[in-house]
Amino acid sequence: MIGKIQLRKGFKPDYCHKPVWSGGGWHSYQCKRKIWKDEYCKQHHPDEVEARFQKKRAERIAANKSRQENIHAKCRTEIEALTQMRDEVERIKAEAHVNADHFTYDLMRTILDAQGKKHEDL
Ligand SMILES: [Zn+2]
Repeated sequence: MIGKIQLRKGFKPDYCHKPVWSGGGWHSYQCKRKIWKDEYCKQHHPDEVEARFQKKRAERIAANKSRQENIHAKCRTEIEALTQMRDEVERIKAEAHVNADHFTYDLMRTILDAQGKKHEDL
């Protein structure tokens, strides 16, 4: 691409050699910035392009990690709430069993009393 652009009329050797696509995408023209290093402006130098790519990549990875950590924290909170709810249900169930046993015991005593029977065996 650089060879091609150099053959074009109006090529400026002291300007960045990177061909840039026009808005429509059919024609490329020479970058309008002055050379910064190795025939490229700071924006188009391969080292800078790579550094930007790596920086964005690192930012993406960090953002993903942060998102994952937030999701995990939310899950842990929900699990904690569900565990508490389950424990509360178990407590209520246990209490209901005791209450039901007492109710049955009292009812049987009442019945046996009404029938004039003894209830030592209860
Ligand atoms: Zn450039």
